[in-house]
Amino acid sequence: MTNSLLPVKDAHRQAFNAINTPDRLLLGPGPSNAHPTVLEALSRTPIGHLDPLYVELMGEVQELLRYAWQTDNRLTLPMSGTGSAAMEATLANTVEPGDTVLVAVKGYFGLRLADMAGRYRATVKTIEKPWGEWFSLEELEAALIEHKPAILALVHAETSTGVCQPMDGVGDLCRKHDCLLLLDTVTSLGGVPLYIDEWKVDLAYSCSQKGLSCPPGLGPFTMGPRAEAKMATRSGKVPNWYLDVSLLNQYWGSDRVYHHTAPVNMNFGMREALRLLAEEGLDQAWARHRRNAERLWSGLERQGLSMHVPEELRLPTLTTVRIPDGVDGKAFSQHLLNTHGIEVGGGLGSLAGKIWRIGLMGYNSTPENVDRLLNLFETELP
Ligand code: PLP
Repeated sequence: MTNSLLPVKDAHRQAFNAINTPDRLLLGPGPSNAHPTVLEALSRTPIGHLDPLYVELMGEVQELLRYAWQTDNRLTLPMSGTGSAAMEATLANTVEPGDTVLVAVKGYFGLRLADMAGRYRATVKTIEKPWGEWFSLEELEAALIEHKPAILALVHAETSTGVCQPMDGVGDLCRKHDCLLLLDTVTSLGGVPLYIDEWKVDLAYSCSQKGLSCPPGLGPFTMGPRAEAKMATRSGKVPNWYLDVSLLNQYWGSDRVYHHTAPVNMNFGMREALRLLAEEGLDQAWARHRRNAERLWSGLERQGLSMHVPEELRLPTLTTVRIPDGVDGKAFSQHLLNTHGIEVGGGLGSLAGKIWRIGLMGYNSTPENVDRLLNLFETELP
């Protein structure tokens, strides 16, 4: 038996030009622009994913991720995939069929968590708030008492609404009611104060493309000892091979056993992004995000625009601005993109057509970017 050569079909053989993408300024919900030295790191020649130099780099990425998240968690690593892969990893590793997962839904990404938990055959319970609101400790505790979940899942920075969920006391509540606390930090890591260990968060995930100033492609993941203990007592295998942390840890931990071919260049970029964050210092990065967001808020308010979220719960990384009556918000975003190369997001779900979403994340959180956008709102908003 042989493999015979057959005529190659040219039906899909199109002659495209070499890639030529525009230089956009990404001031939407993400991705944000990557830092120039991150782009340089990404374009380095790949090395083997078991090369001792790469193995050393993996350890550096893990250590800097622990810094960025303020955690000592042993199981801290970037999942190969976007934020949703890391989101799925938190659930896939800990949920067993029939476990109750309580999701506090106050926007689009809470709904995604609920959907994913159901796919791992959890009994999903939700509590809901209108998009633009947040949960109080009393509301969370009432739901913990009523549903007795194994896991409470919360979104810290809800990108669909611009709300930053207050976290003081939530971890203690979860310990009191014997459940794990799972936190989405996709739009907070690197830009908003976040303390995984102090807040007693058991599971968290994030992305590379927002506060870390790296392109999309990696999903930072962290798991604390209480979540590890739940994983260790599973009655069956983790039902997702690719995201199984105990397998992944044989590669990321001391054994260095092949699991999948690591996206080495993405991890070059991640290392550089985290190195830059550590060089700046977390508190300086958080303060910069806050300063530039306040500059945006006051500038927009001076122009008569109003924000969707009260100031004390507004995210510095993602601002939701109400579209004034009579203005076609989508047409203005398209104008900004087509004429000025600036991306600003629109609303999702119940906020579609009602808000713009303006991101000031990582490398893009600068006064120059704020002023450029404010000037366009002032001079070109119909
Ligand atoms: N969670 C939140 C709060 C997000 O904003 C996003 C994406 O923007 C995700 C999860 C999913 O991340 P990704 O799109 O990188 O898969």
